[in-house]
Amino acid sequence: MTGPNPWTAMKTYCLILIPSVLFIASPGVDFADRGDAWPIAVSCVLLVLTSILMGFTAFVDPGVIPRNPEPEDESARLPRSLGVIATGQQIELKYCYTCRIFRPPRCAHCSICNNCVELFDHHCGWVGTCIGKRNYRQYTLFLYALSSLTLFICAMSAYHLKVITVEYMTAPQLEDLPLSEAFQKTLQRNPISFIVAVYSFGFMFFVIGLTGLHCYLLATGQTTHEQLKKSFPFANPHTKGPVQNCLALFCAPPISGHVDPRQPAGYSSTSSATNSKITFVDHNQLAQIVKERSVDGGTRHDHDGDSDGEIDGRIGEVEVEIERGGLLPGSVSDKD
Ligand SMILES: [Zn+2]
Ligand SMILES: [Zn+2]
Repeated sequence: MTGPNPWTAMKTYCLILIPSVLFIASPGVDFADRGDAWPIAVSCVLLVLTSILMGFTAFVDPGVIPRNPEPEDESARLPRSLGVIATGQQIELKYCYTCRIFRPPRCAHCSICNNCVELFDHHCGWVGTCIGKRNYRQYTLFLYALSSLTLFICAMSAYHLKVITVEYMTAPQLEDLPLSEAFQKTLQRNPISFIVAVYSFGFMFFVIGLTGLHCYLLATGQTTHEQLKKSFPFANPHTKGPVQNCLALFCAPPISGHVDPRQPAGYSSTSSATNSKITFVDHNQLAQIVKERSVDGGTRHDHDGDSDGEIDGRIGEVEVEIERGGLLPGSVSDKD
């Protein structure tokens, strides 16, 4: 769990588990008594699937980037953003004051978890964690499973009410009972079916709306964060088309994280900064590269600021290769 409050996921899980159990225990058992066991079987499978996927979303590191443990070198007068040329494209790396790192592209700092997260989508207040590079796949699958479960429970509860009402209306001893009276009798006998049907009907709008939004974001290759910020008003450079975006998300191999789950979130699993994959986003190392290149006096590395070394704004450019959205150590290419 990387979110600050582990109980958030448990509370949300109760909102899913309680109506599902009520459905199985009341209309599900009634269907089984009539010889139809499949509603119980389908709802159990969907509930187990939803639970597993929610667990994987909530308890997996979303892609937290370890903080720079070194205190900031005030004398270095470092930039707060840095222009880099990555795979031929000019991009701007923003500096995170809390984590003391230059953020890789598409990374953002979550104010709730207080960490920088790779390919940050949003902080999910329901699951209680950030949704990022390492748990977005599980999150979207969780939404699909939850939508299916909610739809199924809603439809079957409503169908159960209909079956009982028709039974009352056609019962020979009740002699053509009107619909309203038959429905009233149904509610008295099956209040749980009615409660579950109404609850899941309301819940369905929220869940299916959210699922639809993430289908759109996946098809267009955006994160929720980018969509809200309107990061790509003209063309999104990260999209490869709906099919390729889906394949890239669902068929990609598992992505390794940067943090050790046994340690507090936000700190690297290795004490040796030089061996860590995240080394390059270490502020001091990146600063050293910028400084050395500025001393070289190459035209590409000139300060944009004033003569005494303005710390704000872009002061230089370095060429890097970007792999999996992160900056790797030793990937700074010296092409001078
Ligand atoms: Zn940060
Ligand atoms: Zn968060």
